[in-house]
Amino acid sequence: MNTAIKKHSCFFSAGLAFFCAATLLISVLSTPAFSAGAESARLAKVTVTEIKHWSNPDYTRIVISLSSSAKFSHKLLKQDETLKKPRRLFIDIAGAALDKALPKEIPINDGLLKTARAGQFDKETVRVVLDIESIEDYKVIPFEEPFRIVIDVTGKQTAIQKSAEVKATQAQPPPKAHTPKKAIRIVIDPGHGGKDPGAIGKSGLREKNVTLKITKLLKESLTKNGLNVTMTRDTDVFIPLEERTAIANSHSADLFVSVHINSSPRRGASGVETYILDVAKDEETRRLAARENSTSRKAVGDLEFILNDLIKTAKNNDAINLASAVNNKLVARLKQSYKGIRSNGVKGAPFYVLVRTRMPAILVEVSFISNAEDEKRLRTDKYVEEAAQGISAGVMSYLKDTGAL
Ligand SMILES: [Zn+2]
Repeated sequence: MNTAIKKHSCFFSAGLAFFCAATLLISVLSTPAFSAGAESARLAKVTVTEIKHWSNPDYTRIVISLSSSAKFSHKLLKQDETLKKPRRLFIDIAGAALDKALPKEIPINDGLLKTARAGQFDKETVRVVLDIESIEDYKVIPFEEPFRIVIDVTGKQTAIQKSAEVKATQAQPPPKAHTPKKAIRIVIDPGHGGKDPGAIGKSGLREKNVTLKITKLLKESLTKNGLNVTMTRDTDVFIPLEERTAIANSHSADLFVSVHINSSPRRGASGVETYILDVAKDEETRRLAARENSTSRKAVGDLEFILNDLIKTAKNNDAINLASAVNNKLVARLKQSYKGIRSNGVKGAPFYVLVRTRMPAILVEVSFISNAEDEKRLRTDKYVEEAAQGISAGVMSYLKDTGAL
């Protein structure tokens, strides 16, 4: 049996965003007959492979990864004074087995949650219990490819982080008249990667490779302009959507820009469009959100329902202004060198990568890889460079307009 454990890691970023990731990776049993959970492993169709958590000032995210999709249910239990048990939220995963090497208890202690506990509830059910310190609300969302259950618990800003912020404020010297402005932090997110190729063009061009090329040049351009740039990935690697958001939050980014290439069954579809988080207004947008979220169209509807309150509050002027600036400058730049460039404008869609970002966050669909002309252009260094320069000009224009530069 191979067991790999990535140890708990925590760090502070700019004194504000507190980020913690405890990762436990457990490989699937190679010899189930010799495991203590042999019977449950034999009965179970899926294995719980990983439990991770991230702490932010006002929410904690727990991600349970499974070897394949499974049915699950969840329930919030009241405090039980006679048994001296706190409020707890449990998730029951049907037809699942838990590797014995997974620790019985994962400490969290961030003011919202105390611990996550995972156990074999019965022969065919794994139960994950979250012991609650103080939460106001929670959301449970399933995701495909790979199958995982994302649990976000929210509450008021926690005591631990409040005291950390006070300390950070106290530690800072009083501002001087000539103190230069703090560099703007931007997190750039190249769509897809690794086992997730994104959309694939008729001649075989893969979205994941084009987005990486564009964003590398975008980083170069924005760095030259004095911005502090972080990429969610800079190699061909798979990163789940919820981790991309966590990277942006943990870096206390001021802006988040996710870069994608569009695709449509209508071969003639073309143009630039830029998205903010919102409900989808039509079927085409819902189909796009399903593809970008690696999920079904029905799941997009469920996501809109579950995240309704978050989606509504995300639709703010900062995100709209950033999306407009990027869309306009990108279209203008491409038009300088290419014919037939269209703007499809700023739109809203429930892209999961934009959910719970704590800064203005947008997703740019640069062109359509499904369009033969676009695909040909996307293969060239010139088009990739122009696209990067266009997005960069949009970001800089937004920052100038807001007075941040
Ligand atoms: Zn994409």
